[in-house]
Amino acid sequence: MGMCFGVRDAIALATRTAQQEPLTVLGDLVHNETVLAELRRQGVRFAREAGEVTTPTVMITAHGASERAMAQARGEGLNVLQATCPLVHFAHRALAQLVAAGFHPVVIGQRDHVEVRGLTGDLAAFDVVLTPEDVARLPGHPRYGVVAQTTQPVAKVAHLVGLLRQRFPQAQVHYRDTICQPTKQRQQAAHDLARQADVVIVMGGAHSNNTRELVATCRQHCERVHHVQTAADMRPEWFHAEDTVGITAGTSTPDATIAAVADWLAREAAKFNFQTSETCQPAPLPAG
Ligand code: SF4
Repeated sequence: MGMCFGVRDAIALATRTAQQEPLTVLGDLVHNETVLAELRRQGVRFAREAGEVTTPTVMITAHGASERAMAQARGEGLNVLQATCPLVHFAHRALAQLVAAGFHPVVIGQRDHVEVRGLTGDLAAFDVVLTPEDVARLPGHPRYGVVAQTTQPVAKVAHLVGLLRQRFPQAQVHYRDTICQPTKQRQQAAHDLARQADVVIVMGGAHSNNTRELVATCRQHCERVHHVQTAADMRPEWFHAEDTVGITAGTSTPDATIAAVADWLAREAAKFNFQTSETCQPAPLPAG
C-alpha cells in the first residue's frame, strides 16, 4: 500500500528543493492534508495561481500541467520545476499523438481536476466525459482519440468507451489506456478485499480522486465501507465482534497514516476480538 512512486518522488523533490531555496508549489502536491501540513512546516509554500507566487521557483505537481500554463509561469519570470509523474507524461504523449494523427480528443475524467486541465490545456478543441450522459451529449466526429485520467477505474472507462462506440458506430474510436498501474493494482486489490471483508476502511484525503474511486469500488462488494483521512476519524461503533476488517489506501496516503490506522485497529481488535484481514499487498512499482 503506501504512496505511489509518482507522489513520493514529487514530495521528495519539494523537500529537497525547499532545503536549498524558497519554493512555491502550484496547486496541491497531494490531496492529503497530513502531508501538506508537514511540507508547510518545512517551509514549502502553496499557491493556486502563478500570479500568487512570491518565490523565484515554482513547482508543478505530479498531476502535471499544460505547456501553455508552464510557458505563462516562465513568462512571469518564474523558474519552473516539474514533478510531473512519468505516467502523467505518458498520458500527455498519448493524447498528443492521437491529436497529431487527426483524432478528436476525448478525455475520460473530471473536467476540473488539475490533471485533466493539464491534459487539455494545450488543445484547441476537446471533450471531457465522466458519465453516460456526457457521452450522449458528445458532438459527432469521424474519429475519436480517447485517453483517461490516470486514476479512473478500469471498468468505468471501458464502459464509457463502449458507449462511445455504440453511439457513433461509423466513427473510428481509438482508445489509449492511460490509467496508471498503481491505480489499477489498488482497484483490483480493493475489489478482492471488499469481497472478503465485513467492514472496509479506505484511507485517503477527502479530495483525492483515486481514494473516492476506491471507496466506490469497495461499496460494490461490501455494505460497510468507511472513508477516513486519519486514525482520528476511526469509530469503535463501526465494528462488531468477529468482523473481518480490510484496510486499503489511496495513492497519496502517507505510510504514517496507514500505520496509525493499523495500530488503532490492533488496539480495538484486542477490545472487541474482531479479526483484521490481510490488507492489500504492497503494489510493485511499474518500471519508468
Ligand atoms: S496516481 Fe498514478 S499517475 Fe498519479 S502520481 Fe501516482 S503513479 Fe503517477
